[in-house]
Amino acid sequence: MPKVLIAGEVQDGKLAGVSGELVAAALKLTGNPRDVSIALACDDAAGSAENALACGVGSVYVIEHPALKGAGQGGFDAPVTAFVALLNAEKPDVFLMARTDFGYNVAPRVAFRLGVPVAQDCIDLAWDAASNAAVVTRPVYGGNAMAVYRFKEQRPQIVIVRPKTFEPAASNLSPVGEIKRFGVEIPDSHSRARLVESVKEQRAGVRLEEAQVVVAGGRGLGGPEPFKQLQDLASVLGGALGASRAACDAGWIDHSHQIGLTGKSIGPRVYITVGISGASQHMAGCSGAKTIVAINRDPDANIFKEARYGVVGDWQKILPAFIETVREIKRS
Ligand SMILES: Cc1cc2nc3c(=O)[nH]c(=O)nc-3n(C[C@H](O)[C@H](O)[C@H](O)COP(=O)(O)OP(=O)(O)OC[C@H]3O[C@@H](n4cnc5c(N)ncnc54)[C@H](O)[C@@H]3O)c2cc1C
Repeated sequence: MPKVLIAGEVQDGKLAGVSGELVAAALKLTGNPRDVSIALACDDAAGSAENALACGVGSVYVIEHPALKGAGQGGFDAPVTAFVALLNAEKPDVFLMARTDFGYNVAPRVAFRLGVPVAQDCIDLAWDAASNAAVVTRPVYGGNAMAVYRFKEQRPQIVIVRPKTFEPAASNLSPVGEIKRFGVEIPDSHSRARLVESVKEQRAGVRLEEAQVVVAGGRGLGGPEPFKQLQDLASVLGGALGASRAACDAGWIDHSHQIGLTGKSIGPRVYITVGISGASQHMAGCSGAKTIVAINRDPDANIFKEARYGVVGDWQKILPAFIETVREIKRS
């Protein structure tokens, strides 16, 4: 079975949730957790290394260097150098990164440096023992079709996995693996891009990507005002507010709320859509949702093919009663 190396991501000193998803993806490739390793490239891995070990993997490689602070200060040059050095030394069969800003920027550059192919935005993967290669599934033609690719003999086989397509691996309370330190030289000349400014998005409440309930609106809302009602509903349910690209492009709501192929990927327990048609590019961002509830006046809207519960009608009539009922249930 293959040896799999995961590029772990560190957020606020802890292992990011998406790295647990990559562990689940890695375990699908190789049944043996001991064949799975996580690499952490950062300036201080004090907390995240223990988190990574608790995922039950065989090894955690810690690559600490001041140049790796903030993912190489946003330029990503330093992590590329660090991962290339580790991959050359450890020679895993498969290298997994998440389709985050970090993975999107780093993985193709690592692939270029090593002269190996990379499969972007994968939503499934498997190991084909006969050809000794990874087989991956990814959406093509804007999400209208799925393509299955098989790697050739090159190593490592680099796969970028879409967030929220795998349930995170349960953290193991009695870790069996070990932490290994890996030293790397990162000359100043390797950091050609420099982060000039970083603006943290201000948002009250739960993050869209982490929310267990998401309420989203689309072009069918007809303007920015109704998003206040959707926000109310999201707040009552302890969830987050989302939107289709059409609503964001119209300027009704900020693009940071956009769900879909070119927006965020979500994986809530409940996803409530209002006035969204369910275009494939939108659905690409919510394939991880467990239950979809759709309100749309067009009975033939594509969203009803994906929704478990659907209400056909004008949201202006349905939504107030819906919100009131949710409030009543909450009160009782
Ligand atoms: C490369 C590419 C990337 C893209 N990326 C994304 C992406 O990341 N996210 C995304 O969302 N889209 C994306 N799109 C756009 C996507 O193709 C659709 O155009 C978009 O999702 C449509 O948004 P919508 O459902 O809000 O609008 P529409 O498709 O116009 O649907 C509006 C819906 O509202 C319903 N409606 C109207 N009035 C009412 C009412 N009063 N009550 C109830 N229902 C009503 C209508 O029946 C209709 O179904 C992308 C497109 C391309 C080409």
